[in-house]
Amino acid sequence: SAHLMAEALQELYPGVKFTIGPPIDQGFYYDVDLGDQTLSGDELEEIEEKMLELARRDVGYERHEVSKEDAVRYYKDRDNEYKLELIEDLEEGEISFYEQGNFTDLCRGPHIPSTGEIKAPKLLSVAGAYWRGDETNPQLTRIYGISFPKQKQLEDFLERRRLAKERDHRKLGKELDLFTFDSDQVGPGLPMWLPKGTTLRETLRDFLREEQLKQGYKPVTTPHIGRLDLYRTSGHYPYYKDDQFPPMIFDEGDEEGEEDGYLLKPMNCPHHVKIYQNDHHSYRDLPVRLAEFGTVYRHEQTGELGGLTRVRGFTQDDAHIFCSPEQVKDEFIDVIDLTIGVLDALDFEEFEAQISLRDPADKDKYVGRDELWDRAEQAIRDAVAETDLDAREEIGEAAFYGPKLDFMVEDALGREWQLGTIQVDYNLPERFELTYVDEHDERKRPVMIHRAPFGSLERFIGVLIEHCGGNFPAWLAPTQVQIIPVGDNFVDYAEEVAATLRVEDVRVEVDTSDETVGYKIREAETQKIPYMLVVGGDEEEDGTVSVRSHDEGQQGTVSIDAFLDRVQDELRPAFASTS
Ligand code: ZN
Repeated sequence: SAHLMAEALQELYPGVKFTIGPPIDQGFYYDVDLGDQTLSGDELEEIEEKMLELARRDVGYERHEVSKEDAVRYYKDRDNEYKLELIEDLEEGEISFYEQGNFTDLCRGPHIPSTGEIKAPKLLSVAGAYWRGDETNPQLTRIYGISFPKQKQLEDFLERRRLAKERDHRKLGKELDLFTFDSDQVGPGLPMWLPKGTTLRETLRDFLREEQLKQGYKPVTTPHIGRLDLYRTSGHYPYYKDDQFPPMIFDEGDEEGEEDGYLLKPMNCPHHVKIYQNDHHSYRDLPVRLAEFGTVYRHEQTGELGGLTRVRGFTQDDAHIFCSPEQVKDEFIDVIDLTIGVLDALDFEEFEAQISLRDPADKDKYVGRDELWDRAEQAIRDAVAETDLDAREEIGEAAFYGPKLDFMVEDALGREWQLGTIQVDYNLPERFELTYVDEHDERKRPVMIHRAPFGSLERFIGVLIEHCGGNFPAWLAPTQVQIIPVGDNFVDYAEEVAATLRVEDVRVEVDTSDETVGYKIREAETQKIPYMLVVGGDEEEDGTVSVRSHDEGQQGTVSIDAFLDRVQDELRPAFASTS
């Protein structure tokens, strides 16, 4: 389709020079040099029409192999310095060209047999791009497109794209008053959570914490900074220096006598290791599971920041498990269960995992003994087999310090998101010389497992917002019930109803604005509040409320108790254990 677009461009913009036009995740692009001409985007439809016209001729894509010399001659004749540069980089030998109709392009292929198979091309956008991504080079025009063999597939794609835009968490975060950024004064990638966003976040955090407490995790709290020495021992400094905020170094001769500096913590692990070391441990104490919703800071490049999916300060649902090698499997099973249970409670239906193993052909790259690796890798496989998790294995994807399991979810629009990880670590126990005493009174090294199944609250909430389009499950909604008095005279009764619900831990607000009832309902609908209770004279007299649900509309008039009975379960988180 990129070749077909190029052919169309060649007809519509004589003299256009083609550079590179690769396939990408969703479709393709082509960077072209249009000389003095520029595209505003309005021309795309005309180009598409030309593509369809050419496609209807249904001509084959023919492959020719030529010598490098001939390839150079071809583009010299056409005065295309870009292709000449590309050819220069190719090895000596045969170079392939593809020809269709009146257009020939340098290309590795392969291609569909004929242009007639292109039934539904769509050009999506125009952007500027520098030749070879270097801003000292000439600026080119990049045209993005996608193409399908059927019109219906294109329509589905465009619909998903429209929904993805509508559900963009940056847009919804603003509309639903969840979070805000102030790049100028606070700094890029540092979200500030507004009251509603904080309620959402804390509800999710409490839900996770409750489940973790049931699974035997112990909560800990650690400071946001630590001495450089801590990170030298852990190896996080200076090796990962580029990803961290620069250290805080005291002036020489500072009265505190500090020779060293502090680091804003890039991870929680070293602090948790120190907490483990605060006690002597026997095999009877293991596993020790230390959990903290710990906020960490990483210096991501500004170009990569946008919304909640990549931030510079974030809170991990972190925990470190210190256990014996025999316990690794059961610990994995429990973490997988916890993760699936939470994803279920949030209406994620599709999830899977990747088991990252070491490359046995390249053992020198990894720390830790062979038998430990084999055992842990088998333990992860066994754990996955005993749960409902679909997993694929990737050889050579393990970290140098241990194998891991990464979680992925597919959202309602079919997009896959990488969440968090469970990671075995043989490195930190060694570096900090961690021990426990086994049943024969011998000192042993524990295995350390890092686990943050949802990665960070920021990223996870970003994914969740797009998954549900801001329609959070009622138990998680920042405001669960909006009470709408039909006039000023009924505000007192509305407040009375609100007080009754609050006692039952329902998150409730009263709309006391002097807008019309219709306006107030629309407002509550826009805010995606699960329940609206309209109250007026009749309701006040009978002690009732007129119920309206965001999902299902009018529900009739019932007593306050009857309403509470009906929504009780829905307004509390439900954890579904899977095994
Ligand atoms: Zn860790």
